[in-house]
Amino acid sequence: MNRPFSPETLAAQALGDVGADGGVIPSIPVATTYLRDPDNRYRSGLSYGRPDNALIRHTERVLAELERGAEAMLFGSGMAAATAVFQALRPGDHVVAPTVMYWSLRNWLRGPASEWGLKVDFVDTSDLAALSAALRPGTTKLVWLETPANPLWTVTDIAAAAELAHRTGARLAVDSTAATPVLTQPLTLGADIVMHSATKYLNGHTDVMAGALVTHTKDDMWARLSGIRTYQGGLLGPFETALLLRGMRTLYLRVRQACASAHILAERLSAHPQVAAVLYPGLKSHPDHDVAARQMNGGFGGMMSIRVRGEGKAGGERHAIATAAGVRLWKRATSLGGVESLIEHRASVEGPGTPAPADLLRLSVGIENVGDLYADLSQALAQAARL
Ligand SMILES: *Cc1c(COP(=O)(O)O)cnc(C)c1O
Repeated sequence: MNRPFSPETLAAQALGDVGADGGVIPSIPVATTYLRDPDNRYRSGLSYGRPDNALIRHTERVLAELERGAEAMLFGSGMAAATAVFQALRPGDHVVAPTVMYWSLRNWLRGPASEWGLKVDFVDTSDLAALSAALRPGTTKLVWLETPANPLWTVTDIAAAAELAHRTGARLAVDSTAATPVLTQPLTLGADIVMHSATKYLNGHTDVMAGALVTHTKDDMWARLSGIRTYQGGLLGPFETALLLRGMRTLYLRVRQACASAHILAERLSAHPQVAAVLYPGLKSHPDHDVAARQMNGGFGGMMSIRVRGEGKAGGERHAIATAAGVRLWKRATSLGGVESLIEHRASVEGPGTPAPADLLRLSVGIENVGDLYADLSQALAQAARL
């Protein structure tokens, strides 16, 4: 069962394979080593648990289908997947990364990756002229995008960025965690590699740390990535994989609900007296709305940020923190992409140097009733305004 079926069908049935025991879902293979054939070969293709597990391979095939890629690799976290891509480069290689991106990965690029010898430039990748100017022909080996990008939800034109990267001889990798394969398939737009924090939407239930890479082509870069995962032991565990695969079965339902609710919330919050701005690519007022409308199909994602109104210096910050303190339904926590809605004062997490304004709250919209979500946030905003 593969591409003749639509992606939601493939996801719902996890490719539809029935296990050898007749189970409608695959069993969890836990063996860390496999029998060698008497003639000394490994016909099963499985020899040792650090690289080999049938359920992991199956789950990778599901994800590769959803992303329209050649092959996928699962890792123990999104960071393990993302850092592997940079580690597959060589000291002295130049990479371009976005100024607005997942905070922990940016810190890693600034610190350990630079110490190791990567030359990293950060640019506003949503500005194609700025991206083009940052590329060094022959030296730039990788362009990294995140779209929509944490926590301002800027959108980068993947197809245009791919053309620029390829013209310079660089590969294009896209952190598509927020877009999910439901809304965007970067490999069909010219990207070479897609990365996911599968901890987020792919799993969707806030109970697995996992990461994934999907490649357009099984090339030398992919072979190096496979080597890195095997040498470093970054493979996801079989039990976590089973939870992830279960979560992926409802990916389309969850993401579509989150998109619909987020869009309603974005519109209602735009009219809220205590909200100074709503950052959501689905709003016509968003600077990248046109690119998002072209590149994202069926919705603009479940992630948004709001800027909270406040008087005087630090007024917005104080009211934003008080709003997060005043919610009863939303959960005050980091992370995103789960069925439960989360709220977070992002500047407190990211610290100095963050692109997040001090009055910004990041919202991960879950699948609860949207009226409940709005009412709770609205009462928290009103209560904060009375402080
Ligand atoms: C969470 C996240 C990551 C890191 O993934 P982990 O699974 O936490 O290691 C990377 N990129 C984005 C956009 C994320 O939201």
